[in-house]
Amino acid sequence: MRAARFHAPGDIRLEDVPEPIAGPGEVRLRVRNCSTCGTDVKIFRNGHPNLSPPRVLGHEIAGEVDQVGDGVTGWAVGDRVQVIAAIPDGSCPQCRRGRPSVCANQESMGYQYDGGFAAHLTVPAKVLAVDGLNRIPDGVGFAEASVAEPLACVLNGQELARVGAGDTVVVVGAGPIGCLHVRLARSRGAARVVLVELNRARLDAAAVVHPDAAVCAAEADPVDEVLKLTDGQGADVIFTAAAAKAAQEQALLMAARSGRISLFGGLPKDDPVIAFDANLVHYRELTVVGANGSSPAHNARALELIATRAVPVADLITHRLPLDRVLDGLDLVARGEAIKVTIEP
Ligand SMILES: [Zn+2]
Repeated sequence: MRAARFHAPGDIRLEDVPEPIAGPGEVRLRVRNCSTCGTDVKIFRNGHPNLSPPRVLGHEIAGEVDQVGDGVTGWAVGDRVQVIAAIPDGSCPQCRRGRPSVCANQESMGYQYDGGFAAHLTVPAKVLAVDGLNRIPDGVGFAEASVAEPLACVLNGQELARVGAGDTVVVVGAGPIGCLHVRLARSRGAARVVLVELNRARLDAAAVVHPDAAVCAAEADPVDEVLKLTDGQGADVIFTAAAAKAAQEQALLMAARSGRISLFGGLPKDDPVIAFDANLVHYRELTVVGANGSSPAHNARALELIATRAVPVADLITHRLPLDRVLDGLDLVARGEAIKVTIEP
């Protein structure tokens, strides 16, 4: 079968590899959609310490079961399914305390296990053991279902930042994650959602999610703009979905008293230290939280949010490409010229 395999930074090859076979405790999928994300671009450029090459990339996976391994119950050939990306071990102290997204032994599809940029993949027994395979509801397409994984991460972030009714929410970064944050915040009852983005073209493309206000950070100071929009009060919740120190530093300055700041996106690993006025946190009783992927339960709930149209995603899928154009797809993602690019192997 054809597969897009990572060999080294800058070296992803489309090549013919043997079809995987479902071993005991595993199922095999015919991959229908595997969507791309900024992480794929980061891996392509820099590699990743947890990724052992050669490795089939792709972790936003939806497809059909086409082989069921020995000992697997509950799944049959033809079942339409979505797969988690982050695989918790289910047994470490974090998992036992109900926080599998920070599992110390987390592994991932497309890192330690072959991912979805291929005609077939095997779902590891570890994924089935943690309920990491979700049945796609009728009426939900494979491409939409593949977006459940990034939406699950966004859901984890909004739970940690306690987005709720009446909140004014600022989302910094208008990529696919930022767009999902806008839509999810609305479904959780946010009163107002402001989208901030440096790139004017990208901000305009994100008009599809109808933010109440859109601020181009290249044209106006985003902190001033948020303060103006909130009568000087600041925002209740700010998500930084942009790998930029400036975004994180500004987020702290645009928070209302008792506001919550989610450092949702990471910073480059070699340059992660920001300027942080600790007294703002102290006197204004701010909460600063992180977000690291999602749990299997978040994936299941994200798929439900998509199925019920509480968070529609079909219109965020701007590009559908065959597997042999996966590098073009990553290029579109890198240039910020797409919202969601999905690969159809
Ligand atoms: Zn664990």
